[in-house]
Amino acid sequence: MDWFNYRDGQLFCEDVNVDELAAEFGTPLYVYSRKTLEHHYDELTKAFAELDPMVCYSIKSCGNVHIVKLLAERGSGMDVVSGGELYRAIKANANPAKVVYAGVGKTDDEIKFALQRGIGYFNIESEAEFENIAHIANKMQMTANAALRINPDVDPKTHAKTTTGKKESKFGVDIERAKRFFERYGRDKFIRLNALHLHIGSPVYSAEPYVNAITKALGLIDELRAMGFEITALDIGGGYGANYVHEQTPPYAEYAERIVPLLKPFVDGGGRVIIEPGRTIACNAGVLLSRVQYIKVGGQKKFVILDTGMHHLVRPAMYESFHFIWPTNVAPAHEPAQRLETMPNEGLDPADVVGPICETGDCFAKDRPLPPVARGDLMAIFAAGAYGMVMASNYNAMPRPAEVLVSGKGYELIRRRETYDDLVAAEMELDLMPI
Ligand SMILES: *Cc1c(COP(=O)(O)O)cnc(C)c1O
Repeated sequence: MDWFNYRDGQLFCEDVNVDELAAEFGTPLYVYSRKTLEHHYDELTKAFAELDPMVCYSIKSCGNVHIVKLLAERGSGMDVVSGGELYRAIKANANPAKVVYAGVGKTDDEIKFALQRGIGYFNIESEAEFENIAHIANKMQMTANAALRINPDVDPKTHAKTTTGKKESKFGVDIERAKRFFERYGRDKFIRLNALHLHIGSPVYSAEPYVNAITKALGLIDELRAMGFEITALDIGGGYGANYVHEQTPPYAEYAERIVPLLKPFVDGGGRVIIEPGRTIACNAGVLLSRVQYIKVGGQKKFVILDTGMHHLVRPAMYESFHFIWPTNVAPAHEPAQRLETMPNEGLDPADVVGPICETGDCFAKDRPLPPVARGDLMAIFAAGAYGMVMASNYNAMPRPAEVLVSGKGYELIRRRETYDDLVAAEMELDLMPI
């Protein structure tokens, strides 16, 4: 569900005509809908309410400080995977006690920063990492809670690059090793190892892989408790789907109706459930607006060349992922009632939609049927709110897009457009060696 809809052939974000945003702020432009972000957060929280979970929004999916702030104000904790993301959480006034911190390569500086800020849980990925965090905590005479990330060896049936819960993945430790892990480190005085963490991959379009993974985790919790260890929390990760195409993902209630009964006894026994949604909150809450620069016809092929590309939205190039792309202003007959991979409308003309980057891979869509488009037209790339701007780069020395947050009839710029000076600023500091 989102609030990007056509009215008489014109795309609106909530009650704002997106063409007016492009006119005011230029393109390429990320446009987010506040109502959509809040709706997703509220609906997910409601679906899992019986578990009273700690919801930790995954900052890596869409990390603009203003977006993190509005979710923090709604009560969300944060899932971070770096010191930089923790910094964003702090800038957004998130409660550090509701921050969970995962990632296989945490550096000493990042660990010190997280200890000083008093985060909720370190999600531990390996023995070597635990030893290092415990050593640093000991030196600083500080304590923290930790969850061991387990690798439940389930296949979430998603893209190879976003599968994280199979045995051969770099994340977490397998169930057998988890018991030895607790025997060895479960009585550390500085880092209290008292929770488990899972994150199986993304996007996961059914409850089944969660059910399999959680069942294994609960079995392990029973064994660990029998061994005398206290397990106070189970973090079941993120990965819930989003609608890249019309109603592709099940409603939250469908995940919850399988997951909640499974976890209810754990919660009734005093255990805390943590969930880490990212994509499902942010994905449909954002579009990337782009101006058509040129139409190029070569042989049988037509290319629609945009002022944005893989440098601003890398998902198609990196994961072969589908994004619905449509002009923001169309004849009423071409209003897309649904966003589908093949559109039923008459009068569509297939084209490759490409960016300006000097890479053949800089292509959003091949042979995509589109309504008539001309130089200067505005196009919307939908479902770009998650893993869009956060993965944007300055490749080919292209400034990154501006970001706007719409709320009802109002809107505000939440990140200004980068300038050429921004591109070279870190290289032009006075104490660098002159060339
Ligand atoms: C990326 C990530 C998430 C969020 O995944 P989504 O698919 O965006 O929900 C949650 N937890 C961890 C540990 C992650 O790395």
